[in-house]
Amino acid sequence: SGFVAIVGRPNVGKSTLLNRILGQKVSITSRKPQTTRHRILGIDTEENRQTVYVDTPGLHIDEKRAINRLMNRAASSSLKDIDVDAVVFVVDGTRWTEDDDMVLNKLRDIKCPIYLAVNKTDAIKDKAEELMPHLQVLAEKFNFAEIIPISATKGTNVEMLRGICSKQLQEGDFYFP
Ligand code: GDP
Repeated sequence: SGFVAIVGRPNVGKSTLLNRILGQKVSITSRKPQTTRHRILGIDTEENRQTVYVDTPGLHIDEKRAINRLMNRAASSSLKDIDVDAVVFVVDGTRWTEDDDMVLNKLRDIKCPIYLAVNKTDAIKDKAEELMPHLQVLAEKFNFAEIIPISATKGTNVEMLRGICSKQLQEGDFYFP
């Protein structure tokens, strides 16, 4: 099976997206207090492959506190430990914050492709103009594999994103039929 990490600051819609992707399928979600380890959010079994979605709870953002710095470091190294095949970096299309940049910076050394999922497109309206230049800069800086506008609540492009993730696994070394 392959691993897809869903990454993003709190409230961008990661859980909503995961619920959409996994639908009625069995999913393992834990509401344990955040630990330095990634959480397994769910396993998506389709056809011949399994996609394991993980969250990165340690990306604590506020680095002013030493404990958070430690957790952040542990989180980015745990991403490397499990050798993720793809990262879906989720942002809230209606609200970009410095925390988004901070989380993204944690992904610098990740070797796998990063897909930028711009969520809440249903609520963007006039904010799109504000967002686009920012995305452009990011795209150049981080070389995203793809930028995908989604709406986790409405389901817009979620199936496409899911397809992209599983295709990534199929083509990667981690595909075991
Ligand atoms: P997480 O902390 O990243 O897991 O974010 P959640 O999945 O808990 O979502 C945070 C909030 O954003 C919730 O109130 C969701 O209903 C809302 N939300 C998530 N996805 C969307 C979306 O596509 N559109 C809109 N308008 N709201 C969304």
